[in-house]
Amino acid sequence: MTLPPVDRDRLVADRRDLHQHPELAFQERRTAGIVAERMRELGYAVTTGVGETGVVATRAGGDRCVLVRADMDALPVEEANDVPYRSRHAGRMHACGHDGHVAMGLEVARRLAGVSLPGTVKFAFQPAEEMNNGAAAMIAGGVLATPRVDAAFGVHLWNYIPVGTIGVMSGPVMAAVDRFDVTVVGRGGHAAAPHLTVDPVVVAAQIVTALHGVVSRRRDPFEEGVISVTQVHAGDAYNVIPSRAVLRGTVRSFGGRFYEQVPALVERTARGIAEALGAGVELRYERLSRPLVNDERMTAVMRATAEEVAGRENVRSGVRTMGGEDFAFFLEAVPGCFAFVGSAPRDGRPAAPHHSPHFDIEEEALVIGTELLTRTALRFLAGE
Ligand SMILES: [Zn+2]
Ligand SMILES: [Zn+2]
Repeated sequence: MTLPPVDRDRLVADRRDLHQHPELAFQERRTAGIVAERMRELGYAVTTGVGETGVVATRAGGDRCVLVRADMDALPVEEANDVPYRSRHAGRMHACGHDGHVAMGLEVARRLAGVSLPGTVKFAFQPAEEMNNGAAAMIAGGVLATPRVDAAFGVHLWNYIPVGTIGVMSGPVMAAVDRFDVTVVGRGGHAAAPHLTVDPVVVAAQIVTALHGVVSRRRDPFEEGVISVTQVHAGDAYNVIPSRAVLRGTVRSFGGRFYEQVPALVERTARGIAEALGAGVELRYERLSRPLVNDERMTAVMRATAEEVAGRENVRSGVRTMGGEDFAFFLEAVPGCFAFVGSAPRDGRPAAPHHSPHFDIEEEALVIGTELLTRTALRFLAGE
């Protein structure tokens, strides 16, 4: 079978158009509209509103069904780039590369529409990745059923490796994202008479210190994990001991025992310290996203394709991050693989990090990502 070549101009034009019109989680109406229209024109069976603003597009072939996923949402970031395709919306920006993911998804679909497929291909254009709940919403909406999906693949444009390289490996590659709120309940009073109060500031300070001890002393050093306390709120006067202090933060892990134990460890640490110092604690612990775990067999399929597309010497193992990615929910349900497509300058200059107001990509990465996804889907359907 001869695939039509990647239409680089269209790919870049699509990405730039989407970049100028970023939409936040579950508000991707313009994006979803463009996707649905384009996919219908290409002859796909399209369902809109899957997981609120998600779009599913299917082209039925044989028994095997492969899913290609592209996330659509932008971030509440004010773009600082002075480029012709700068965001036209104040306070909103495609600062993670999801504009490129959508453009690639459309181009993969266009190319696959032109050949006879040995199976069924399904596209999931997903909302709200940045909120960690768009994937779950689409799965609840039935994206993995009728026809049942056998394998799922996705990519992230990745500004931490140069364009021309691809990171792909089996096992956990992105972290489970948890978050917690700890409210220390003390008893307020005069700053000059602390013995008549229960000072929540001092209790909170000790909890912050102790939470970092959870990572260094309670976790097996062979298991990856990090706890960051990112918010501390208490008091509003020089001479008043407040009655409450609030701590918030995030926990990242790759699964395993630490992942199982950490909610209890955080709770026990906070409660134990508060109790020792005479204060109370209200605690909320939430799991947002699961660890993203690549299946060994599907990784072999994607890795072989990556070597074909980028050259063996440009395919890297060991590209992982403690960042979260809700494609994890797809990979909990079906085997699959998620790869990182390098989008930093080729000469090794550092690129702006994801979520930065200066984020931008080397657009050649779009061509590589498109090739990788197109050929991976075909390779899976061909039963290799
Ligand atoms: Zn992001
Ligand atoms: Zn992202």
